[in-house]
Amino acid sequence: MSIQKVSYVKAFLINNFMPGFLVRLFAKPYVAGDSLEKSIETARQLWTEKGITSTIDMLGEEIQTKEEVEEIVQIYLDVVEAIKNEDFATISIKPTSFGIDIDKEYCIENLRRILTAASETNLGITLDMESSDYTDATLEIYHKLQPEFPNFGTVLQTMLFRTENDILELKGLDAHIRLCIGIYIEDKGIAYTKKSEMKAKLVEYTGLLLDHNHFVAVATHDEKTIYSCLDLIENHGKGPHEAEFQMLLGVPRDRIQQELINKGYTLRLYVPFATEWKYATNYLKRRLIENPRLAIYTIRNLFGRIFQPFRRKKKKK
Ligand SMILES: Cc1cc2nc3c(=O)[nH]c(=O)nc-3n(C[C@H](O)[C@H](O)[C@H](O)COP(=O)(O)OP(=O)(O)OC[C@H]3O[C@@H](n4cnc5c(N)ncnc54)[C@H](O)[C@@H]3O)c2cc1C
Repeated sequence: MSIQKVSYVKAFLINNFMPGFLVRLFAKPYVAGDSLEKSIETARQLWTEKGITSTIDMLGEEIQTKEEVEEIVQIYLDVVEAIKNEDFATISIKPTSFGIDIDKEYCIENLRRILTAASETNLGITLDMESSDYTDATLEIYHKLQPEFPNFGTVLQTMLFRTENDILELKGLDAHIRLCIGIYIEDKGIAYTKKSEMKAKLVEYTGLLLDHNHFVAVATHDEKTIYSCLDLIENHGKGPHEAEFQMLLGVPRDRIQQELINKGYTLRLYVPFATEWKYATNYLKRRLIENPRLAIYTIRNLFGRIFQPFRRKKKKK
């Protein structure tokens, strides 16, 4: 069965039959908490304990009104204020949480406020890429704002057929691109259907971005793909100044993360927080669809914790 069909089935089951409280329980490791303070605390801890950097994201994809957008923009201004003098974190923003569904110009205005505040200390801001419905608008915004704000980056998804052309169109920009296979379920008329094809393109497009002197942030947990990208970066005569690696908070990859850090690369984790759980639900469902085994791990851990006292008692005897 193609990845599309499998993903549709998993998405249908999780979206329709899994109650919200279970989604939150199973997907907890992917979210830093319910406040800006908790996400900063997580980011600081990752930095001091493991040398891992972060990109902080406030989840908010169900945004419908300008009042809600304004609330989110204010929180992002607080995030900028809190970390603008720190080395350990950047910021990621979803176009839908900044009002792209309300009006593109309004979204640009909101982004400009954050970019202006962040540019005081050259704090990195990445505009996430959502489903293909938003690709044109997101790239249009990027092309418009990047020349003004060198600290501005965006994301390209290697599953989409259009991505090679989108990379070529970055010509003239000093672009900072997070390259990932992409998490949204797309139509087979516009996207590769096999993960192996998407990952081969991840390696190929890393090379293409480097050929055009753009900065590339390789976002994957797949070790084989990471090693292929590492070889390619080095064969291009490039290194930690031209590339970094990114992964999601909650995905256990300690060994390879440390290996990348030891080689001098920045290893950045995506550290999301949600002020209200309803804002986190879609993100968490996507993580569960990506890795339904999480539910099994969580249940095993829970039972482990419940039975731990009995096990200790037994040992004492
Ligand atoms: C920092 C970052 C930012 C991202 N931003 C975007 C974005 O803006 N737009 C977008 O469309 N997508 C984004 N993604 C999502 C990314 O495209 C998906 O996470 C993608 O499906 C992960 O695939 P992979 O390359 O890790 O390969 P996979 O084959 O999916 O994963 C490789 C292995 O990693 C492990 N793994 C992967 N995901 C999980 C998980 N959730 N839980 C536990 N184990 C897991 C599994 O063992 C799996 O076998 C981002 C990812 C990262 C890391």
